[in-house]
Amino acid sequence: MTRSITVGPDRTGHIVAIVNGLIAEAPDPAAPVIACSGGEIAPGAVCAHTHLYSGLAPYGMPAAEPAPASFIEILEKVWWRLDRALDAESLRASARDYIAKALLSGTTSLVDHHESPHFIRGSLQVLADAAAELGERTLLAFGATERNFGRAEAEAGFIECGNVEETPLIRRLVGLHAGFTVSDDTIRTAGELCRSLNTVMHVHVAEAMDDVEDAQARGYAGPLERLIELDALPAGSILAHGVHLTSDEVREADRRGCWLVQNPRSNEGNRVGYPDSLRYSEKVALGCDGWNADMAVEEAALLRLAAPHGDDRAAERLDAGRRLIAERFRFSATGLAPGAAGDVVVRKGGEVMTVVVGGRLVVCNGRLVNADADTIEAEARTQAERLWEKMRAL
Ligand SMILES: [Zn+2]
Repeated sequence: MTRSITVGPDRTGHIVAIVNGLIAEAPDPAAPVIACSGGEIAPGAVCAHTHLYSGLAPYGMPAAEPAPASFIEILEKVWWRLDRALDAESLRASARDYIAKALLSGTTSLVDHHESPHFIRGSLQVLADAAAELGERTLLAFGATERNFGRAEAEAGFIECGNVEETPLIRRLVGLHAGFTVSDDTIRTAGELCRSLNTVMHVHVAEAMDDVEDAQARGYAGPLERLIELDALPAGSILAHGVHLTSDEVREADRRGCWLVQNPRSNEGNRVGYPDSLRYSEKVALGCDGWNADMAVEEAALLRLAAPHGDDRAAERLDAGRRLIAERFRFSATGLAPGAAGDVVVRKGGEVMTVVVGGRLVVCNGRLVNADADTIEAEARTQAERLWEKMRAL
């Protein structure tokens, strides 16, 4: 598989050379050339927090009855039932359809946070295989939790994080579901695992007040302080949400080099509030938390929600995601600068025509190169029906 390719010139005359997976000063003369005369070249988008396991939800997921009345009820009645019903076949179909649609919308990197309590061992390999097949850059973590089977469940999640094999497009992270579903011992173990695997933490933090109140009931100032005191937040860690962090806590996360990820459609849908304090960090990326990974749609939701809150930093979020990816993959630059990830998108009249990830052509003329999107979606619909049946029986 070649990882060198030359894209352009586009309609502005811009040529992007990718050599060995990275943007280079000059093209490799032997590399294939993708002409895009009427289009415009841009760096690929990053979704900095999502859940590939929820990729089947758009295909008729039954509504919870009666409707959930709180954030915890949304988890208990919807997502924690869906994740218990997942098996290898439904997860594979979910991941492939989600990734296919991400690539077709110009999203070249996904930071995934996975949970499937009845299918832990081998689950991240299913996700890695889907990403490798279709050509998406992906960060993988199993979100360890004790909420179903206690400490043994958390241990199995950690082992699965360690099982991820890194490749030029895959990085492994250590995952925790959220502070309120794990003990102090599990958080300590997660920190140790970050150090032994030389990686960082990916965890939901202060998404709703329940997480804050839980940490306080355990004697901590809040969930962030708990992770810090238990030595589980190496620099570079990824904290999803932070809706209910104070401005001082957000500054502390920033000072420690941690990323925060805002998920506007999810926060609005779960009615958890707007994360007003995130503006006090330089490291806030944009995620979609299981909603489709079309980052233009997510950014439009962000700008709509940010305006009435006077949040004038919303437009920085997408670029921050590229910095997060550069940090994890040790790229020396972002965007289209030499040294950046060789992840580029060509749009023509607003439509995604070409996508290259790590120097590999993965979307050509608006179609996947490595698989057929319609076949993938048909399989997703079939697996979705099976999944809803299993959910009903739980
Ligand atoms: Zn999430």
